[in-house]
Amino acid sequence: MKAYYVESGDIRKNLENLKKRAGDAPIWAVLKGNGYGLGLLPMAQLCRECGITRFCITEPNDAALLRKSGFASEQILMLRPTTDPDEVHMLLDLNAIATVSSQDDAALLNGIALQRGMVAEAHIAIDTGMGRYGFLPSDVDKIIPIYAYMDGIAVSGIYTHLHSAFCSKKATRLQAAAFDGVLQAIKKAGYETGTPHICNSAGLLRFPDLAMGGVRIGSAILGRLSFGGSYGLKRVGVCEAAIDEIRWLPKGHTCGYGAAWKAKRPTRIAIVPVGWYHGFGCEMGHDVFRTRDQLRAALSALAGIFRRKAYCVTLGTQRCKVLGHIGMLHTVIDVTKVKCALGDRVQMNINPLMLKGMDVVFR
Ligand SMILES: *Cc1c(COP(=O)(O)O)cnc(C)c1O
Repeated sequence: MKAYYVESGDIRKNLENLKKRAGDAPIWAVLKGNGYGLGLLPMAQLCRECGITRFCITEPNDAALLRKSGFASEQILMLRPTTDPDEVHMLLDLNAIATVSSQDDAALLNGIALQRGMVAEAHIAIDTGMGRYGFLPSDVDKIIPIYAYMDGIAVSGIYTHLHSAFCSKKATRLQAAAFDGVLQAIKKAGYETGTPHICNSAGLLRFPDLAMGGVRIGSAILGRLSFGGSYGLKRVGVCEAAIDEIRWLPKGHTCGYGAAWKAKRPTRIAIVPVGWYHGFGCEMGHDVFRTRDQLRAALSALAGIFRRKAYCVTLGTQRCKVLGHIGMLHTVIDVTKVKCALGDRVQMNINPLMLKGMDVVFR
């Protein structure tokens, strides 16, 4: 037995908390990546129950699934531009809002909308430092023609994405200022910008004054930000798995591939049928190679040698150490000092974004 449990009540509490923080700015629930791994539809359902009527997705297929599943009147914004005509047609069919982030995708969206005798609703993306998607703030002259001449596009919003709201006040204020410069330039040229929005989760929590005309919130709904707890957010999602074998290993016996663990004394072990395949122990990789990131990684590895940080699982109120390497589909834990029986459930921390091969159960 294994499943990933999500407390719906905690998600509701998080949404109420976030709504309060956002004040008058409406929440756009970001449900990319299959609702951050928990499921697009159940997450959308919970959001709707809490009064949220705006969703962000990144795939037209997700917009289609929402529409087909009864989300008929909610606003759906696709958070990436597209230069694929099929995707543009799909967005128009679904009455979803497109992102326009270059002259190319603006021209395509405009052309298809005109050809179909429609007006496409769009938000304009500005790249204030994220380095992906969006007009540069210095390219206002490329943005104005969308407002001025593209009759197939109705711009109802304009946004940028914060890259450092979790770590840098200075960088965030600079991004906000660059974005504001674009808004002022558009207004000066005589056009309504559409609703501006820049905050992601960290942005709303740490810079509530930047909530503007809306906030795009993803990870905070799950309470999965490193500092979410200090804002009263509940972290949701836990894997539960039943122990399916318990035995004693004699002193000197080893455990797992490479025999990385060896019993110093007779050890009672329990096996749970969850491994790295399911996402257990799969940390985010080290993908930046600036000198300072390498130094930080080296220091943390060094500290690890002395701290001997082992992976653990929870059994009732007790913590049990993982023995040896986590297997693809199995994990062995030390229960020498823990009262337990076959079928008892352990709790394991798995990031839902890494989750694979088990049901997600909302309770
Ligand atoms: C993912 C994403 C968000 C939400 O980010 P969180 O930090 O999870 O709240 C907001 N805006 C854009 C453009 C995104 O890609």
